[in-house]
Formats: sequence, structure tokens, C-alpha cells
Amino acid sequence: MIEYPYLPPNRGFKFVPLNDPHMMAAEVARRECAGDSLWPIGIVLVRDGEILARAGNGFNRGSSSKHICPRVVLECSSGTGYDLCKLHDSIGHAEPMLMQVAVDQGIDPMGCDVYMFGHWWCCEPCWKAMIDAGVKDVYVLDDAHERFSRENVFAETLTSSVRSIFFSHAFDQTNLAEMKELIGTLDAMCVELGCSTTIPFRDGPLDELAQEHNEDVLYRWSEQQIPICDVLIAEVSNPSLGVGGEIVLAEKFEKPVILLSKKGIRVSEFVTGNPAVVYHVEYESIMDAVKQVRNVLKQL
Ligand SMILES: [Zn+2]
Ligand SMILES: [Zn+2]
Repeated sequence: MIEYPYLPPNRGFKFVPLNDPHMMAAEVARRECAGDSLWPIGIVLVRDGEILARAGNGFNRGSSSKHICPRVVLECSSGTGYDLCKLHDSIGHAEPMLMQVAVDQGIDPMGCDVYMFGHWWCCEPCWKAMIDAGVKDVYVLDDAHERFSRENVFAETLTSSVRSIFFSHAFDQTNLAEMKELIGTLDAMCVELGCSTTIPFRDGPLDELAQEHNEDVLYRWSEQQIPICDVLIAEVSNPSLGVGGEIVLAEKFEKPVILLSKKGIRVSEFVTGNPAVVYHVEYESIMDAVKQVRNVLKQL
């Protein structure tokens, strides 16, 4: 017995093998129509053996742009947290998208069957969309609950292309020990992911900086390092002119920025609104920061 996070009363799934022609059509729809690269799903509407309409999730929603999913960052469990995300809310799910495509094409889904490739269950709003439209049976792959488990899907889709990271942090002496612990723990995680890291307090030109008449040395160093990194991770809990400057440098060199601040601290909109910022992690503890940053990096 498969435990489903949700099933409407008196409804269930029907199952077909991989070589079922309608399921194969849903697989093609997944490749061609799904706008969601994180968890792509294809779906077709069938009546009397004929495919009347097809769709994918995230279809036609401008989702080809880079999406870092808060549900993945925060590790929301199945069926929860859809409101956190503009792409993965239920309107963009494959089932209502298919109903909409059918209506747009003047097709009445009443009495039709649905074949879905890429997932193993349907959430409540999706069942409602199909039931309201009069859909008869919903087919998934006979091994869908294993093949499309979260672990298996994400093992395929969550593969980071990030190879090098620049950490931007405040140099304020009062919090340097705390900062070193946070950045040091994040650094260990990044190295484990296979990334090289550049950290000003470890790698920066601090000796040179201590000498007089060397005011431009830190700027020049950052200006050399940031362009050769894939991502800038900026800790912005403590206001820092230097960190602000490095974020602007990252934007200049078209590098994505991950902001990091303690939960509850207000960060200037001039920083959070920088177009280079791909995600703002608000953390409760060092381990929480590590978890979230790891999950953001996996999506880059
Ligand atoms: Zn999302
Ligand atoms: Zn759904």
C-alpha cells in the first residue's frame, strides 16, 4: 500500500508501465513542456485512446529564468510550503495547467483520463481542478512512488555548477570570532561540495594592508578575486561598507550573490534589491545557515 500525502474521497490512481503509449506521450510532454527544471512533470489528456491536450508544470509562466526554490532551501516536506514560492504554487502544477490548456483549445475534459509522468501523487488543489473539470481516471507509472521520490528526482536535478566561492564579510573586530566560526563552518561545507573558496580574513592581503600608504590594496585584491569566482556569499548581518562594495562589484562582474543574515535583522533594501542577489538566507543558527546555503548552491 502506498501512503499518499493526499487523496480525495473515493479516488485513487491507476497504474501503467513505462511502455504504455500514453505514458510515453506524457514523458515527451515532460521534456518539451515542463518549465520547471527542478521537478519537471509532463501530463496529457486522453479520450478514447486519443491525446487531446498536453502540458507541463511551470508551463508558460516565465519559469525559464533561474529559480531558487525556497521550498528546497528550507526543506519543506511534501505538500507544504507552496505559498513560499512563485513557481511551485499549485496554479503552476501540471494538472491545472493541463485543464487550462484544454479549455484554451476548446476541449472539455469531462470523462477524459489524465496520464502524468514525473510525479507519484497529486496535491489537493490539483485533484480539485481535475475533479471539477470531470476527469475520470488519473494514471501514473507503476513505480512512480520510487522513481519519482524526492531523493531520486533531486539526485538528477540538483547538481551544482558552482566551483568557486568568494565570502564577503565584515571586518568589525567585535564580531570577528563569531564571523570566523560561521564562515569557517560554511567553508567546510563548500569544500565538501567540491568548491574552492576565497575568504578575506584567511586569504586577503592583510599584511600589506597593515602597512601605511596601502589604502587601495584591499579594493584591488577584491576586484581581482571576485571576477574569478562563480558566486559571492555575503554576510550582511552587520552593516559594512566593504561588504556593500563587494556586492556591487559582484553585480558589475555578473556574479550571483547569496545574502546571509541573522533572522530578525533588517537588511537595507539597497542590498536585498540588488539584481545580482539570487537568494537571501535568513538563519537562526550556524547549522541552519549551512543547510540553507548548501541547498541554494545545489540549485545554482
Ligand atoms: Zn519553487
Ligand atoms: Zn499539485
